[in-house]
Amino acid sequence: TDPALIRNFCIIAHIDHGKSTLADRMLQITGVVDDRSMRAQYLDRMDIERERGITIKSQAVRLPWNGHVLNMIDTPGHVDFTYEVSRSLQACEGAILLVDAAQGIEAQTLANLYLAMNADLQIIPVLNKIDLPAAQPEKFAEELAGLIGCDPSDVLKVSGKTGEGVRELLDHVVETIPAPVGRADAAARALIFDSVYDTYRGVVTYVRVIDGHLSKRERILMMSTSATHETLEIGVISPEPKPADLGLGVGEVGYLITGVKDVRQSRVGDTVTSAAKPAGEMLAGYEHPKPMVFSGLYPIDGDEYPELREALDKLQLNDAALVYEPETSAALGFGFRVGFLGLLHMEIVRERLEREFGLSLISTAPNVIYRVVMEDGKEFTVTNPSEFPAGGKIATVFEPVTKSTILAPSEFIGAIMEICQGRRGQLLGMDYLSEDRVEIRYTLPLGEIIFDFFDQLKSRTRGYASLDYEPAGEQEADLVKVDILLQGEPVDAFSAIVHKDKAYTYGVDMAKKLRELIPRQQFEVPIQAAIGARVIARENIRAIRKDVLAKCYGGDISRKRKLLEKQKEGKKRMKMVGRVEVPQEAFVAALSTE
Ligand code: GDP
Ligand code: MG
Repeated sequence: TDPALIRNFCIIAHIDHGKSTLADRMLQITGVVDDRSMRAQYLDRMDIERERGITIKSQAVRLPWNGHVLNMIDTPGHVDFTYEVSRSLQACEGAILLVDAAQGIEAQTLANLYLAMNADLQIIPVLNKIDLPAAQPEKFAEELAGLIGCDPSDVLKVSGKTGEGVRELLDHVVETIPAPVGRADAAARALIFDSVYDTYRGVVTYVRVIDGHLSKRERILMMSTSATHETLEIGVISPEPKPADLGLGVGEVGYLITGVKDVRQSRVGDTVTSAAKPAGEMLAGYEHPKPMVFSGLYPIDGDEYPELREALDKLQLNDAALVYEPETSAALGFGFRVGFLGLLHMEIVRERLEREFGLSLISTAPNVIYRVVMEDGKEFTVTNPSEFPAGGKIATVFEPVTKSTILAPSEFIGAIMEICQGRRGQLLGMDYLSEDRVEIRYTLPLGEIIFDFFDQLKSRTRGYASLDYEPAGEQEADLVKVDILLQGEPVDAFSAIVHKDKAYTYGVDMAKKLRELIPRQQFEVPIQAAIGARVIARENIRAIRKDVLAKCYGGDISRKRKLLEKQKEGKKRMKMVGRVEVPQEAFVAALSTE
């Protein structure tokens, strides 16, 4: 295709503002999917995506429109996947900024808009859902216009549901978004903006060709790893994969298949070039995925450990950002310490492990990465509370911080500030988007955000606040490790790194919770919370004399045996912490309720 006829664009929107629905209409109106085969959210292929209505993996689809080729690149909307979003944007020349006409701009829309502006994309502001009775297109057109610096009359108004205004939007894409420019005779350079594992075909790599040409049966080179592969198939998606015998030229968007089985061999952000005639320089901006949040994952049934390992190995084929290593816990047995991009990523991985692999799992409280500097100058990172030094030789602890943006109706300013202050936030600034909606910016420790912050924010603002955050370096923090001890034995699964001011509350709460969850034993069991050797909270489980056999009056032998066997059964599901028997359920319950 002549690059002059190509338009590459993406849709940026907050979750639920109607991106998938609008994409459906575009597929239908351009005739890519006929009315008979149409189903809702056509492009969201993963089950979890469909059920939760969120897009995890970006997709690209080619739409013919009035003699032009439009490539629509779908981007994940959530903060955890900002890097993937930025790569998808890099593959485009323009972006549709889609905003729900009944809701207005949300924090994620804003964050993605800034990314798009940084990438120099042509922005098309669009209000969606104008069919809703609650829509306020005039009000939000002004908000949008103020934000991107255009006239309110430039804001398009559509309904993805009824299709109203969608044709005009497609025309507008052709008219306003620049055609791609690249050097056709230069060495090939294509940007990988997504890579998906497919059980039958192996890894499918989505690329945008910047310069030169990629062909079938060509040896290609991945520039970040220097690995070479052969393109077995190359083509475009419209809406199913269609092999393209001529390959892909400047500005084109499509997929390639090389037979590799692991997405880590085909990384998002990497540059594909020809192995025979490699480009001199890779495209800018490649980053290795960096896990930000860690948690221990353990099978509830210890026998399922090999299955858990196998499941993680399989998931990693499809998720280059997932990292894990084996870990042993005295309380929970064999498991893994797993690193995630963020909380949503963590939830998705857990859910997939349980749903697709049928595993029942316990996860320990999530934590971030800490950098610890000792008095003797030694320095290391901690991704697990058990690695946190117990002694007093620590000079400084650094924790990751974020620049967080919260958007909400202005009546909630007080509540939001209270939550942020309570979590060691520092106010950076505040701006009114319109008369009654405000953008509040804070520096917040990431460790505070991953601990139920979002839920609290939502409940204190009746669901109206939205949150976005980006990493903003690290800061010194007064952090301590709180251990929980049963009869003097630390239970590693309950250790947590918390701010000094919150250590006492954490210790008291945990000790109380465990006193209720752990059944009484033949002897008294003290539960303590401690920082190093200093005990900060204490509870007691009183002793019980549990002699079941006494009830049998000595007579019936077979009944006695049955009872003994029953007791043994029960013990199997017990974990021993020192001499104390703790039912597995107690760990699960103590870890699951915050
Ligand atoms: P996404 O999260 O941005 O992909 O949003 P979806 O396309 O999944 O839409 C979220 C919800 O809004 C769904 O319940 C849709 O049916 C609804 N929706 C999307 N577009 C429209 C629209 O134009 N009008 C109305 N009334 N509802 C819409
Ligand atoms: Mg969607």
